[in-house]
Amino acid sequence: MALLREHWSLLITQLRLSSLLLACAWLFGCAAPVVDVRPDKPHHTVGGFQNLPGGLDKPEFTDFLRWQWERLLGTRLAQAFDTVAKKAVDPTLLGQTSLGWRMTWLGHASVHLQIDGLHVLIDPVLSGRASPFEGFGPQAYNPSPISLEDLPRIDLVLISHNHYDHLDARTVRVLARQPGGSPIFIVPLGVDRYLRNWGVESVYAMDWYDTRLFNLPMRNTESLTVEMIPAHHWSRRTLWDTNQTLWAGFRLQTKELHLVYTGDTGYSTIFKDMARRWAPIDWLLVPVGCYEPRWFMRAQHVNPEEAQRITQDLGARNALGVHWGVFRLCDELVEQPLTDLIKVQEQLPAGATRIQMWAIGETMQLQQPLLRASSGCSKAMLRC
Ligand SMILES: [Zn+2]
Repeated sequence: MALLREHWSLLITQLRLSSLLLACAWLFGCAAPVVDVRPDKPHHTVGGFQNLPGGLDKPEFTDFLRWQWERLLGTRLAQAFDTVAKKAVDPTLLGQTSLGWRMTWLGHASVHLQIDGLHVLIDPVLSGRASPFEGFGPQAYNPSPISLEDLPRIDLVLISHNHYDHLDARTVRVLARQPGGSPIFIVPLGVDRYLRNWGVESVYAMDWYDTRLFNLPMRNTESLTVEMIPAHHWSRRTLWDTNQTLWAGFRLQTKELHLVYTGDTGYSTIFKDMARRWAPIDWLLVPVGCYEPRWFMRAQHVNPEEAQRITQDLGARNALGVHWGVFRLCDELVEQPLTDLIKVQEQLPAGATRIQMWAIGETMQLQQPLLRASSGCSKAMLRC
């Protein structure tokens, strides 16, 4: 009975969402035009952005309809609340500034980093829903371990793309009004328009391979390098703006540590290219959730097996699984990536880097990497 209730409530939610999006697009012209097309770049086209070769093509709209139809006719496992381990986040500890890198997973793709005194948020969606609407749309089965109001003052926010589970208007608005002034928002091309519409001024749009430097409050002469990197995904915020804004991952590097966040991605050979370009990578944030049904999801979201393959492709020394544990956006249960990843890791050779799965709210002081043989001055670093 509970299963049937969940099924119907999901269907009604989807119908309401579709009709409201339609109405929104028709009434208010929500579409955003293509921005700054550069014909010399392989991912820029006059019709929008596209993926680099190396992965599968995005499904068609008819595939989406087939998925919804099969969901309607099929049996859907009921999702229980409170199925993922959680740790309370102490706002005082989260706000501490210290030398080195400290990372806290806030659930789904939301991550807090403290880097030598700089407070960074990645894809913060902390308002309880990944939806354009306050009252309905995908709800957080496991809410954020810290409220927006209890966050420390944030210096920098990195947003990977415009999907609702990565770009949340309510979260952005609260951050932009934080005491002491708005953080700097770094977003892919075109996504800055949404933020400007929400009243955010300190927003910078970047393209793949664009780089910016940020001062580190606890280091005199060193800075944080942030580079936007390609992912194999897509974008859409309304029915009419498919691929009109860019999607991406990020690379963050100081002299002590090098971290890569792939963003949402399907499996692609681009990660082997990245390894050649940027190795060694000390920490990788890689998505492990939202992968069923495979026939529909595999061009846009990796499953645990492919996430583990990307970890190996990149030669990452450590990896954390993200994009799971909070929202049920696809057909697998919220906690399913845990069990599926264990099966994958049973087959891994000894010594292979295994993706870690933390409790929501878990914090780790990231270890210093071994001293590198080079001077630390690589082509990828803007200062050299
Ligand atoms: Zn996502």
